[in-house]
Amino acid sequence: MPDSMVAARTSDSAGPIQQVDVAVVGAGFAGLYLLHRLRKAGFSTVALEEADDVGGTWYWNRYPGARCDIQTIDYSYTFDPELEAAWTWSEKYATQPEILRYLGFVADRYDLRRDIRFKTRVTKATWDDAAERWLITTANGPSVSCRHYIMATGCLSAPKPPEIDGVKDFKGEIYFTGRWPHDGVDLAGKRVAVIGTGSSGIQSIPLIAEQAAHLTVFQRTPNFALPAHNGPAPADRANLLQGDRAGYREQARQSMTGVPYPQQTAVSWQLSEAERRARFEEAWGKGDLVYILTQLWADQGVDVDGNALICDFIREKIGEVVKDPDTAAALMPHDHPFGAKRPCLDTNYYATYNRPNVTLVNLRQEPIKAITTDSITTDKRSVGIDVIVFATGFDAMTGAITAVHPITGRGGKSLSDVWAHGPESYLGLTVAGFPNFFMITGPGSPSVLSNMAVSIEQHVDWVVDQLAALRQAGFNTIEATEAAQAGWAKHMGDCASLTLHRLANTWYTGANVPGKVQGVMPYCGGVGPYRSICDEVVSRGMLGFKLSGPNVAAQCNDGEVVRLQPDVRLVLGMLAQMNLPPLESFGAQGARDFLAQFNAARPAGRPVGAVGDGMLQGAEGPLPYKLYKPATAGPHPIVVYFHGGGWVLGDELSDDPFCRDMCRRTDMIFVSVGYRHAPEHRFPAAAEDGYAATKWIAAHATEIGGTPGPVLVAGWSAGGNIAAVTCQLARDRGGPEIAGQLLICPVTDCTFDRPSYNDNATGYFLTRSLMFWFWDLYCAPADRTDPRVSPLRGRVEGLPPAFIATCEFDPLRDEGVAYAEALAAAGVAVEQLKARGHFHSSLTMVDVVITGVSARVQMAHALRRFAGLPEAQTSPGYRIAAAAS
Ligand code: FAD
Ligand code: NAP
Repeated sequence: MPDSMVAARTSDSAGPIQQVDVAVVGAGFAGLYLLHRLRKAGFSTVALEEADDVGGTWYWNRYPGARCDIQTIDYSYTFDPELEAAWTWSEKYATQPEILRYLGFVADRYDLRRDIRFKTRVTKATWDDAAERWLITTANGPSVSCRHYIMATGCLSAPKPPEIDGVKDFKGEIYFTGRWPHDGVDLAGKRVAVIGTGSSGIQSIPLIAEQAAHLTVFQRTPNFALPAHNGPAPADRANLLQGDRAGYREQARQSMTGVPYPQQTAVSWQLSEAERRARFEEAWGKGDLVYILTQLWADQGVDVDGNALICDFIREKIGEVVKDPDTAAALMPHDHPFGAKRPCLDTNYYATYNRPNVTLVNLRQEPIKAITTDSITTDKRSVGIDVIVFATGFDAMTGAITAVHPITGRGGKSLSDVWAHGPESYLGLTVAGFPNFFMITGPGSPSVLSNMAVSIEQHVDWVVDQLAALRQAGFNTIEATEAAQAGWAKHMGDCASLTLHRLANTWYTGANVPGKVQGVMPYCGGVGPYRSICDEVVSRGMLGFKLSGPNVAAQCNDGEVVRLQPDVRLVLGMLAQMNLPPLESFGAQGARDFLAQFNAARPAGRPVGAVGDGMLQGAEGPLPYKLYKPATAGPHPIVVYFHGGGWVLGDELSDDPFCRDMCRRTDMIFVSVGYRHAPEHRFPAAAEDGYAATKWIAAHATEIGGTPGPVLVAGWSAGGNIAAVTCQLARDRGGPEIAGQLLICPVTDCTFDRPSYNDNATGYFLTRSLMFWFWDLYCAPADRTDPRVSPLRGRVEGLPPAFIATCEFDPLRDEGVAYAEALAAAGVAVEQLKARGHFHSSLTMVDVVITGVSARVQMAHALRRFAGLPEAQTSPGYRIAAAAS
């Protein structure tokens, strides 16, 4: 339908329908920047805002003590250096009035108010398929017809109802932190109740306590809070910014959180107790949420054990400040990992509980039964109250979006219905079935897990850039495909499973709102990676979007933008950046030296009970071995392990982190064998050594602390090949008895025409040409069908039970699958793991590719089963990893 016909319609509210290219809802950080960018790009636009002025969060949240919790030099717009030069923050963490003044200053500077309709609440939005436009209905004033509809409605802008019986009966004053009166509240001499101890409660409680006659805090769940140490912006950060403003801002954009801090590399178990304490004390002294969340040790956000160390330190601090031991104990969080729920920055929060006019009521021990006309009654007491402050939080991330109801997309579908099982989106920016519809910091974007100023700028820039590009190309509509959206959901899940967010009931997961579907809503993969993914969507021809226009052929470049596991993507990205020459170009010794250097830079493996070494008898002489023993009392079953490296590279130490990890998980001895290598020792040296070593180890089991009887074999890559061959030789040569085989990405057949060899020929570290080189060095063409190097060509009946792991992006994938299928067809008990999104090295790159954990958990289960051991394990790290698998 032509625009002129749309314009002729009248609004169902007052006046003619307003016609614009783009309608924006919200005039907070996001809406303001959108208006500015859209105007500059030449779009006609209007912003609709429920409040009577700009500011969003900082307009509504005027409670005592409200401040930002990201340092203000970081929590600012960065799009215009002149704007940055024109504004100076007075404090490290600015107060709500100062941030509101700043946003007003921005609105004035770019003359934004003239395109904002204040006191205008958007009530519904309807896509008109024929006109290819949205009709936006408001509670007052004319409706708006627009080509594109952008919700900049905020992640934390829909306050949550109190959900407590009797609130309506209360005759005193009631306030919500998220809707605080503009002219303040006089609490002097009053008996005040604060319900809720999230960031809003924790910021306001100390100041309310100073004013009130008595303050009673009703706490359901304690939170971790850290002292803000507010004051002037710290010199180190300010100097960094001033020294190289552009560089600092760019680092923030590429960082994980939107604040430029480096990636930590030291893991907790590599540090001594004293070093850990020193790091913690330094972080505690800094008063910086992002610092303490990211800079202590590398495993703090991904590993329960590494995280628990911080929880202990913080609980200790609480105990030092709060004098009454019962109150201190009630304030100590035990139900979630640090950072899995948003920690709070406080000023005198814990010390406030030492005041004589403050009482803490622990609702876990005495839940609220009712609110009456003048009191709050729990199971144990009735507290007389004049004022109730609800600091009970928000229907976060989706609340403000679905409050516009219905948002009706293509085919009459409402967004609330589409999201009935949880919010799905593509990139957190848009939703399949809702053309020309965008969300700024929607569910599925980094948003609340980041410095939101940085995320908002990235979203706005991306959306406006794409709208301009579409207009230029003659497209009228843009819509995410279902496949792209489903792929994003998968990637979101992969990222979330890397973190500890799934282990806490929080507003990140929707758990704070009764009846809300639960799942980790923000994108957990980090700001920098997210930005690069959005850019990749564009560079790959608007991947995952359908585009159409009146005078241009429709375009749909369908697909999933990220198919790799998030950490695999990072590892491969780093390797690509190193721009290394092909490994095979180094020559055998050069490649060995390179690998040794590369391995030395990788994180060390975790401690095990004992590590030893020795010599065993190989096929033609002594071979070195490395022995990994569990910390528990033996004897333990033995796993004979063969390292990877294409029969050319590596040694008994090169898979050290993997052997340690599996030793810990299985509670079994791992013996890593230093078999002979090509080209010095060609086929069948490695195979015969593998067999001979297994025989020797089985015969010397007791001597090395193992259980006498059957052993198990395991190996990765060429080592998987040796393990598989060893099982066939042991069957055919009268022993030793092997209880089970674990083959990880094994070489099983010298055939290069399976699809995985072509699909993954380059780009995934183990390339096709590298495999050709390995084969050439190890085995003459005439020998390559020998089952001692191509076990798939051998007889596979009567082999020990097997666990075979293959990785999606590995040239060897299909031959591993073929071996598993052949074994199964021959009646061998086989368990297959097809690791989605992984590459050849994923499962052995312990502590680098963390998403490999669930695979290692499954492998450990299998080995224990083969050895006849029960599956149970006690380490908390093990439990979590198992839960994630
Ligand atoms: P908002 O600021 O929430 O603005 C959304 C606007 O949309 C609101 O003005 C609202 O009235 C309007 N709106 C919503 N629905 C409708 C509708 N149907 N019709 C019309 N108008 C509508 N983040 C950080 O990164 N660092 C911090 O330190 C930080 N501190 C915070 C402190 C508090 C107290 C809170 C609540 C949040 C904080 N946040 C912080 C998150 C904060 O929300 C974002 O940083 C940022 O301000 C969000 O901006 P926005 O424009 O996306 O949304
Ligand atoms: P919140 O973190 O969700 O905290 C709400 C609190 O209310 C929780 O303690 C919750 O307990 C409690 N609660 C909710 N319903 C309750 C009920 N029916 N009965 C008893 N207690 C109830 O909300 P928030 O404090 O407003 O903070 C939300 C987010 O906004 C923060 O995480 C942060 O991102 C942002 N924020 C930032 C700052 C800052 O410092 N810059 C300040 C405020 C807010 P349960 O935990 O048991 O549900």
